[in-house]
Amino acid sequence: MPSLSSLSDVALHAVWAHLLGDLHAHVAVAQTCRRLRDFCNRHDDLWRAACFTAGFGRPQRSPVAFADEEPPSWKALACAIVKHASDCEIGSCMRANACFAQQYKHLPYTGLRTLHPYQLVEFHPLYFYLHFSQSAHASQGGGHRRSISAHFPTLSPSPSPPPPVSIPDAVSILLTHMPTFPECRYAQYGPLCRHPNASCAFATFPPVDRLEFENADGDVFMIVENTEGCTILDVNRALVQLIPADQYHLEVAYEHYQELALTSGLSLTQYASAVVREKGFLGDHEYPFLKHIINSF
Ligand SMILES: [Zn+2]
Repeated sequence: MPSLSSLSDVALHAVWAHLLGDLHAHVAVAQTCRRLRDFCNRHDDLWRAACFTAGFGRPQRSPVAFADEEPPSWKALACAIVKHASDCEIGSCMRANACFAQQYKHLPYTGLRTLHPYQLVEFHPLYFYLHFSQSAHASQGGGHRRSISAHFPTLSPSPSPPPPVSIPDAVSILLTHMPTFPECRYAQYGPLCRHPNASCAFATFPPVDRLEFENADGDVFMIVENTEGCTILDVNRALVQLIPADQYHLEVAYEHYQELALTSGLSLTQYASAVVREKGFLGDHEYPFLKHIINSF
């Protein structure tokens, strides 16, 4: 009986295809022996298929920060996702695509396709946390939960009268891009770019390369594009562009950083200098208003 290492590339392709949908298995197989490692290293397109069928895309990086650099390989992304799943304690990040696993099983991998304009897309549940309302209400159990104010996207052209919409809350968006209290139970939650699994999850099922968001008047106020499929992080980063660069939002950010610095036992200068170095898994995250605050010292 031939061993895996003695199989031809054609046979290895067949083994690989059999594993589609199980990213952990792909990473494990790629580490089995040198022959498989070499095979996997030569075929980044296979890693893209492995990520796609597990519901993960590649968020776009900041074009300013990485104008001349290649994006991370699909293999690097797959390995980061698998590793993070064992490090992160947030269920909705560790099992980011459990909600769509069955649907992906029945979606043959052919890359992204043009959708019929009337085809319905389903939003990833994490999408609704990208602009959560700040207000917290006591739940029946005595704990707290965040209330979510959702707005709804429509593919263009809209197949039917749009559902009720509201422009997302800028302060709520702001908070998804900022650090949280180091000793707080939710410290690990923010910002989103610290979580490759939640970040790389496709924003919709099936994945699409363009999303247009309309307000109640039917005016498009935000467009998200990624030719490899719009991810949760792509939407998150488009949303941050909606935050007005005004005094009010600067003060909200300033107060938040000030409070975090106090809690950490640092001066605001020390805290800002430390946190500005945290760039997230793509190495390009910028904390809102932080540069402005640093420059004012
Ligand atoms: Zn995570």
